[in-house]
Amino acid sequence: AAVIVAIDGPSGTGKSSTSKAVAAQLGLSYLDTGAQYRAMTWWMITNGVDVSDPAAVATAAGKPMLVSGTDPAAPTITVDGADASGPIRTQEVTSKVSAVSAVPEVRTVVTELQRSIASAAGKGIVVEGRDIGTTVLPDADVKVFLTASPEARAARRSGELKGKEATDVAATKDALAKRDAADSGRKTSPLAKAGDAVEVDTTDLTLQQVIECVVTLVEE
Ligand code: C5P
Repeated sequence: AAVIVAIDGPSGTGKSSTSKAVAAQLGLSYLDTGAQYRAMTWWMITNGVDVSDPAAVATAAGKPMLVSGTDPAAPTITVDGADASGPIRTQEVTSKVSAVSAVPEVRTVVTELQRSIASAAGKGIVVEGRDIGTTVLPDADVKVFLTASPEARAARRSGELKGKEATDVAATKDALAKRDAADSGRKTSPLAKAGDAVEVDTTDLTLQQVIECVVTLVEE
């Protein structure tokens, strides 16, 4: 049977790198659900939807067509046929995505898409996000919740951003804390650890160690 792996946690914990590597190593598909919320946000911005108006966001939620490519070696996302992988990583999208993803109608659309992608994955799939183990795929075979100290997360994030935009660790730490508070505080499927998830604190682990830890959990 197909194996479903849910990897949740805030950003800067190594979630994406770990999820892609585990999927590649085990021959599974890979889905970045944050990219879907970012793509939805990018579409709203480019189509003039006021993202601070939940009613406007709710009305627009069903309009964009999101398509995710699930090869862990080359994940892709398109919106209405256009490649969105670059634009979804801009600071504007990052600062607005929490407001868009808090709207229940957005979550319904994106969650349904995620479930259909997961059920179509032949050998199985690694799905990373914030609410995968709790809400999207509560019957996942393996659930992991990644954490790390705020300092470690900020250092990793600003390392990734370096060269793309002016950033420093203190500002990154602030931005991460704000996004965490919004993502954890929303009413509909907030960022949360499932009761049956294995929590892995990655602060003092190398990426390789985290990957091995998750692979072991899947193979057990
Ligand atoms: O993982 P990433 O940082 O790209 O996620 C971007 C945003 O998408 C998160 O801050 C959160 O607001 C939203 N998100 C979500 N549920 C998920 C994945 C991401 O609400 N399963």
